Amino acid sequence: MCNTCGGTHRVTYKNSFGAYIFQACPSCGPVPEHIRKAKREALNKRLEDARKRFGMDEKTGGDAA
Ligand SMILES: [Zn+2]
Repeated sequence: MCNTCGGTHRVTYKNSFGAYIFQACPSCGPVPEHIRKAKREALNKRLEDARKRFGMDEKTGGDAA
């Protein structure tokens, strides 16, 4: 496993303002596209499940007025 990022492909450092900055790992590069895609799909699925659970379907979510 990479010692720089610990296998996450991301490194974190603090800038001069004390804010955390995420960067692609200089040793192994950015997160591979297939992992990003899998994560995005998992997130989308969770959002979809939450939407169904709370009845926030687009057909019924018309309380904007
Ligand atoms: Zn790395």
